[in-house]
Amino acid sequence: MRDPAGFLGEEYRTLVSSGLDWKLHVLGGPSAPWCEVDGKRVLMFCSNNYLGLSNHPKVKEAARRALERYGAGSGSVRPIAGNLDLHAELERRLARFKGAEASLTYSSGFATNAGLIPQLVGEGDLVISDELNHGSIIDGVRLSRAERAVFRHTDPVDLERVVQEADARTPSYRRVLIITDGVFSMDGDIAPLDRIADVAHRFGAMVYVDDAHGEGVLGEGGRGIVSHFRLGRDRVHVEMGTFSKAFGVVGGHISGSRDLVNFALNRSRTWLLSGSHPPAVAAACLAAIDVLESEPNHVERLWALTQQFKKAMTALGFDTGHSETPITPILVGESATAKRLSERLFDLGVFALPIVYPMVAKDKARIRTIMNAALTDDDLSVAISAFEKAGRELRLL
Ligand SMILES: *Cc1c(COP(=O)(O)O)cnc(C)c1O
Repeated sequence: MRDPAGFLGEEYRTLVSSGLDWKLHVLGGPSAPWCEVDGKRVLMFCSNNYLGLSNHPKVKEAARRALERYGAGSGSVRPIAGNLDLHAELERRLARFKGAEASLTYSSGFATNAGLIPQLVGEGDLVISDELNHGSIIDGVRLSRAERAVFRHTDPVDLERVVQEADARTPSYRRVLIITDGVFSMDGDIAPLDRIADVAHRFGAMVYVDDAHGEGVLGEGGRGIVSHFRLGRDRVHVEMGTFSKAFGVVGGHISGSRDLVNFALNRSRTWLLSGSHPPAVAAACLAAIDVLESEPNHVERLWALTQQFKKAMTALGFDTGHSETPITPILVGESATAKRLSERLFDLGVFALPIVYPMVAKDKARIRTIMNAALTDDDLSVAISAFEKAGRELRLL
């Protein structure tokens, strides 16, 4: 008889033989500039912990205190018995930080996109995405019954064409939603949100931005892409983000109008039916916002290091693409080259993983580096020397 689960092993072996399986690396301590990866002390060059907040003393202390006072878990989902004062306080503080009327937190950024997008649009609606949007947006859109269209990456002119063509085809969409990443995580480029919002405004469409990689990085004091472009709340209807990146903890969130939050919490199944954050998580997120507000030096340091690193890598002759943010891809072409470069860097004490097909185009394999504000100048020199040495050995320079 056929093994009904036989495909599991077969598919896995296919992935292994084509070199597309994930080989997991193990951290033996905090995500810090120098950390232990697979038992070796290396410089962390690919975490999303841009500002080092995951290991910041104030953030850790807040988590510890909340654990002592409230225990390890919240006991329920938010709408039943798991709505702690800490959760409400976090949402008030986040809304203030973002300059929005209200905010709502979810268990993760993925759960935010997967739970909210299919409630914003449905049958008879149209959703228009940047072609390189994050997988959680793609899944959120798939869960809706809305008609879908994509526009060329970061191209508001193409967006306008897509909206016009859709309008000519079906002038009676109930709602139109335009959705984009704020900062694209593979190339580090920034969505032209001001021009996207202009197109949306002219056509009466809603705007949803996923700012997972813009928060803590762009805008005044790291407030994110809406602040970066100084856009009014009437132009961006859903500002979505995550506590799992620059905030250094975990959890998704949205900011916007009070109506948005009331709607979202009553309709998102990933919010209604999933356990709320442990108290230590909510308290750590609160402390991370505190640190961003009271210690602006982290964001400044992140940008100073980013500029130094990009300048040094370009001077060496590396192709760093068209990044505008602390995500700096080192483009090398072939997947095998990217993998070899990453392995050699690891030997030399730098942890930076390759990003290869199918995550990026076949000839666009790269090492994706992400800068960290907690690096010292010496750390940065060590990393640059390692890139130089490995690059020469592999004849990339
Ligand atoms: C990381 C990321 C997410 C998912 O956020 P989590 O909170 O880690 O689930 C969503 N969108 C984008 C653009 C991301 O980079």
